[in-house]
Amino acid sequence: MKPISALYQFLDTPRNIVITTHQKPDADAMGSSLSLFHYLTKKGHRVTVISPTNWAGWIGWMNGADQVLNYEQQTAKADQLLDNADWLFCLDFNAFHRTKSMAQKLSSLSCTKILIDHHQEPDVAAFNYGVSDTSKSSTCEMIYDFIAATDGLEHLDTAMAECIYAGLVGDTGSFRFSSAHAGVHSIVADLKRRGLDHGKIHEGLYDNFLENRLRFIGHVLLHRMEIFYEYNTALISIPKSDLLKFHIKTGDTEGLVNYPQSIQGIKFVALVIDRDEERKWSFRSKGSFDCNTFARTYFEGGGHYNAAGGRSSESLDAAVTRFKEVLKSQNSLL
Ligand code: 5GP
Ligand code: MN
Repeated sequence: MKPISALYQFLDTPRNIVITTHQKPDADAMGSSLSLFHYLTKKGHRVTVISPTNWAGWIGWMNGADQVLNYEQQTAKADQLLDNADWLFCLDFNAFHRTKSMAQKLSSLSCTKILIDHHQEPDVAAFNYGVSDTSKSSTCEMIYDFIAATDGLEHLDTAMAECIYAGLVGDTGSFRFSSAHAGVHSIVADLKRRGLDHGKIHEGLYDNFLENRLRFIGHVLLHRMEIFYEYNTALISIPKSDLLKFHIKTGDTEGLVNYPQSIQGIKFVALVIDRDEERKWSFRSKGSFDCNTFARTYFEGGGHYNAAGGRSSESLDAAVTRFKEVLKSQNSLL
């Protein structure tokens, strides 16, 4: 993978470009994809964003989200765009398997593949150009850097500012995680000077659910949460019947893993949800517990030091039993 700066000289020639991101895109994945979409479109390229799957309703307000293709639903059209692409930008993920059913197609493409991402252990052999930087708060921060480095900050309009801000907010836990370094706040100051209405974005992301989701959270915290004080750990496990009973949709479970973190002394939270195809894990820690290694070692996953995810193919009960077993060996939680 060559450094992304080697690509800058080619940016002025119009090209067919596809931007893609990880499955079930969150605010950073969609915000980075759409801000780059707006920027490259302004620079005269023909650009399409393809999401591997559907996405949460609370990112639907982003400017351009209505033009994003859902690979699972529009496979033929998306495949055609991918076949005709000169460049493929891969944002907020670093290995093709994170795009689920799109992975095989992406691997087979011979176009120029470009990575912009902040997760650990990138599959650098899969990309021609790229930047992979775990010190970055978000991929949206990296898109801001990309625009700045390619001399385009004058192109940064309100639509782009809103998408970038959404990713900064999402991935820094509203600026509370240590990843919200001084440079992040400088970017926010710049976005504000360019006219960003930040309150509107927080409302779009966090005040944008239906009643059933809040009732679901109440139910889950009351009935599905276990606390292991001896390991400073909380576990939430959600059976499929709860998802059906409360009409839970994509994105409704986002943020649930953060609630147990408010309990004094809790250093590690695990959330497992019984999805159709797998049991999907989310892990969050405070301080010196490495979620990335934990997820990679035991649950076929990965991510960041303090936030990671994974999967299990066994039943929910078996996955929970195994979690409790491996928890016993995690001395750094005590
Ligand atoms: P979340 O718990 O919000 O789904 O994910 C937390 C972090 O872990 C995100 O940075 C996400 O990209 C990463 N992550 C989630 N699931 C997986 C997974 O199955 N594999 C890998 N490698 N990373 C994951
Ligand atoms: Mn991200």
